[in-house]
Amino acid sequence: MKRFTSAFAKWHYIVIMIGAVCIFFTAFSSKQERLVTSDGTVNWNRYYSNAETNQIMRHFTRLYPNLTKMYSIGRSYLGVDLMLMEVTNMKNKPPEEKPALYLDGGIHSGELTASAVALYVMGYLLNNYGKDPEVTHLLDTRTFYIRPKFNPDGSDIALLEDQSLRSSVHPVDNDFDGVPDDDPPEDLDGDGWITQMRYKVPMGEGTHVMDASDSIIMIRISRQGDEQGDYIVIGEGIDNDGDGRINEDGIGGLDMNRNFPRNWELEHIQSGAGDFPLSEPETYTAVKFINEHPNITGIVHGHTSGGFVYRLPSASDPSKFNQDDIALIIELGNYYTETTGRRVQPSSTDPVSHRYGTLISWGYWDRGIVGWVPEYVPRDTWWKDYDGDGEISESERHRFNDEELGGKYFSDWTPFNHPEFGEVEIGGWHSKFLGQNTPAEFLENECKQQVPWILYLIKQSPMLEISEPEITSIGDDQFNVEITISNTGYLPTNLTERGFEGRGRNQIVKDVQAIIDISGGSLVEGNAKLRIGHLAGSNPFSKAVTEKSKTVSWVVRRESTDAAIQITAASDKGGTVRTKRIALEK
Ligand SMILES: [Zn+2]
Repeated sequence: MKRFTSAFAKWHYIVIMIGAVCIFFTAFSSKQERLVTSDGTVNWNRYYSNAETNQIMRHFTRLYPNLTKMYSIGRSYLGVDLMLMEVTNMKNKPPEEKPALYLDGGIHSGELTASAVALYVMGYLLNNYGKDPEVTHLLDTRTFYIRPKFNPDGSDIALLEDQSLRSSVHPVDNDFDGVPDDDPPEDLDGDGWITQMRYKVPMGEGTHVMDASDSIIMIRISRQGDEQGDYIVIGEGIDNDGDGRINEDGIGGLDMNRNFPRNWELEHIQSGAGDFPLSEPETYTAVKFINEHPNITGIVHGHTSGGFVYRLPSASDPSKFNQDDIALIIELGNYYTETTGRRVQPSSTDPVSHRYGTLISWGYWDRGIVGWVPEYVPRDTWWKDYDGDGEISESERHRFNDEELGGKYFSDWTPFNHPEFGEVEIGGWHSKFLGQNTPAEFLENECKQQVPWILYLIKQSPMLEISEPEITSIGDDQFNVEITISNTGYLPTNLTERGFEGRGRNQIVKDVQAIIDISGGSLVEGNAKLRIGHLAGSNPFSKAVTEKSKTVSWVVRRESTDAAIQITAASDKGGTVRTKRIALEK
């Protein structure tokens, strides 16, 4: 073989190689760019994987560098980065000095709409800053902490592999045979969907019958009465572990929203709870993050489905819950019903039996924060009632799927030779993508409906204001300095009555502080750092605190010609505000 014999040939080769590398990178990066256009537009009628979600978020950080900060707050069970985006005007004040809302989605793997809503809200805020006065004001004065993929491992398996798992991929031995996760469902016919299998049995031994007029419809027979079935319909899969059962030990088995520390219970009382509170990296990361960001004033913990919001109490006897806080929570929830027409209901109503170990329960009892569990996606809202009888029949579902959705959410029954059952047919609805979640075709509309209430919640935060200092010379180079600190928000600076509990350093939500900084002089009277207690908001349910503003004064001495003071008022929940630096002049 002839080697490069001339400098020209060698250069030619190098140029070709550089060209190839450039083409490769151009192709690769243009593929990367496609999810967000140059004006920030995203196709919201689509579900995105964890990698795609991160790609969209990264693109937002490039488009909106002054409004975003994206970083990993931990690693998942499989070691995947748990990404979070801070959204606020980064230029006027640090994010942690503004009241904040924490918004997540996807703790439950199949609840894909919740991740879509969180990402949509992020896009909505970023794309409307500087255009919509409300959004502009919000990002100038508040911070959003948005975590679209609470549980990337599980969400990706639910989305990309159509497996059903409650939340974490952390293996659990559901069938107690000593081997965890050894009998998940399978996509036996390789069509990309895990659907159902049907096979005929002697009359009386089945659970279903075939619809007389349409062979694709299977009707479950009622357990009461004398109906008889001649079909069995079960999930697609084989008996991997040879115990005579199908799909009884699938991926994972924990429920991460039962793994939080407040009111946590053991598995025999609360299934899915895990071995101990915060045993999972995803839940530990959430608690650590919220704990390290005391400016968080509200938690929206996104779920799917049902089309309503679970409110507090979440894991406790409602009669033991502070009734003023309940009144406040009902009031805050009303706006959801007003804007979406959907109900808000307590997560726990039974005095004895509860949902244990939920995030919003921890948020309230341990941090005084009101949290919410929106269950996005009302059932059956997208169909068409073709015959107008007020009900959506199975054949109307099929007609809608065929006519409006290109038939893509139903796999036709196709014969398959099953190792245990012989001749079966595999087919059925893709219920995760049309049922548990909004069909992607209608996803943007579902996301959009959540925005007003989510923005409303953060608008209710406490919000500190500080007056111009009144500086009065009292002779002898001494000055009296007086300021008034007010809360102009709806919530008190303690957020809730629960937040007011405890004293001093052990108070659940810390007092407001007034801090004077003196240059070229010294303090004669008063403490440079004063704890002034809490300030009430305008809501009528806050009984522990009644004063909305407090006046503070100091006496300072001027010791040089350029002596000056600056006063800061700081509240964990109501933000940090400062006066200008003001010269002490005779
Ligand atoms: Zn859920």
